[in-house]
Amino acid sequence: MKKGHFNSSSFSQDTLHEECGVFGVFQNKDAAALTALGLHALQHRGQEAAGIVSFDGHRFHEHRALGHVGDIFGSEAIIKRLAGTAAVGHNRYSTTGETVQRNIQPLFADFESGGFTLAHNGNLTNASILRRQLVKRGCLFQSTTDTEVIIHLTAISECQTVVECLIDALQQVVGAYSLVGMTNDTMIGVRDPMGIRPLVLGKLENSFVFASESCALDIIGAEFVRDVEPGEVIVIDKNGTTSLKPLAISNHHLCIFEYIYFSRPDSILEGSSVYEVRKRIGIELAKESHVPADIVIPVPDSGVPSAMGYATETKLPYEMGIIRNHYVGRTFIEPADNIRHLGVKLKHNASRAVIEGKRVILVDDSIVRGTTSVKIIEMMRNAGAKEVHMRISSPPTTHSCFYGVDTPERDELIAAKHSTEKMCSFIGADSLSFISIDSLYRAVCSSARDPIKPQFCDACFTGQYPLSLLDLEEGEELPQFSFLSDLR
Ligand code: AMP
Repeated sequence: MKKGHFNSSSFSQDTLHEECGVFGVFQNKDAAALTALGLHALQHRGQEAAGIVSFDGHRFHEHRALGHVGDIFGSEAIIKRLAGTAAVGHNRYSTTGETVQRNIQPLFADFESGGFTLAHNGNLTNASILRRQLVKRGCLFQSTTDTEVIIHLTAISECQTVVECLIDALQQVVGAYSLVGMTNDTMIGVRDPMGIRPLVLGKLENSFVFASESCALDIIGAEFVRDVEPGEVIVIDKNGTTSLKPLAISNHHLCIFEYIYFSRPDSILEGSSVYEVRKRIGIELAKESHVPADIVIPVPDSGVPSAMGYATETKLPYEMGIIRNHYVGRTFIEPADNIRHLGVKLKHNASRAVIEGKRVILVDDSIVRGTTSVKIIEMMRNAGAKEVHMRISSPPTTHSCFYGVDTPERDELIAAKHSTEKMCSFIGADSLSFISIDSLYRAVCSSARDPIKPQFCDACFTGQYPLSLLDLEEGEELPQFSFLSDLR
């Protein structure tokens, strides 16, 4: 594999492997303020940067910055500047050390017919191939995001309307995409043919809303209308909504990790409460892997609902034995060398009063590199735990995600190289169990996994990628900026 390639340290690349949240409001006098609230509810999907583009009937307005939504859009002056009755917003997270202002979405372009703005959650798997072809044809890229490929394909399409041009563009891309776009007179919501990332439609009096998750409808008091269907394009204009199905429909493949970790527990995803699913995962996990113990403790926050399910099933007391400090940002300065060991406790602390002398079932949602588990288990032992039995509410993460969840390259995934026994001794637990893929499916959809027609994308656990990884197969390089004037 070449340097800068998809498998090579996605953590040091700025473009792909983003986790994002999208939001849009159409026909509301408070469009920008509502969008800021929606993005705030979707903050967990992306914490590095956010942006809003609004339209006031004549002009588009934009504001994008690095940081959290509350800091970027907390000022009344900024919201006022984002005038108009329609707005699109985006939260971005890329795990790189260097984030570039030019990559912050929504992207914007001036077409012959007027302005066009686009916010994208997901990841295209043929973006580099398409980008190379587009650059050869004279397209001038302003960012290194895969999303910009959609903008250029839309711009050069020979179809009539922007919606038709966008559909033409989408017929050429491969990958995961939930999109919210906006022109001078329409708002457009799209989900890729497999429905890998979520997108919902809501209504607030006479306004329509698109959001990555239903929790973002709740915050603005909007009513949930329905999920945007896989392969569906919903166009909203002053006459209401039009649903189009121009994209070839394939098997439904919502990302199963949305239920395990990514979505907020108060969201309803395709008819199922994320919270309830996580609790059922805990129940299934207990059924297959329980050992005698005294208490069940979650690794907060992601392990909480599954630990509750586990405790219900085993009738053991559920205790908050680990407290999470919510004020640790990604930018926290690493402590100096001589006190670096204290850094472990920046985010979590184990409560001796709860743990001492106990046989503990410790529940977390996933093990990626294994570093979190090592630290937490050591912390439990230091707090006097007699035994620590680690239970994980996902199967072993053996493969990287190429569809929009940030995961390290395969080499860095502990489960890709080691057996459960080896991992158990590495993390220092008395026992370690992951939920099986069959039990996970039972918890999510009450039926076993159908290997012929799986209902979810579970590639991170099975290696069965439902969409071809064209850039990867072709050995494509990730695009990089040739000048770096606006690096953070
Ligand atoms: P690790 O320390 O590398 O094993 O990471 C495991 C921890 O990271 C778990 O506690 C998860 O809750 C969390 N986690 C899992 N997937 C992700 C992700 N895509 N982004 C951020 N955190 C994650």
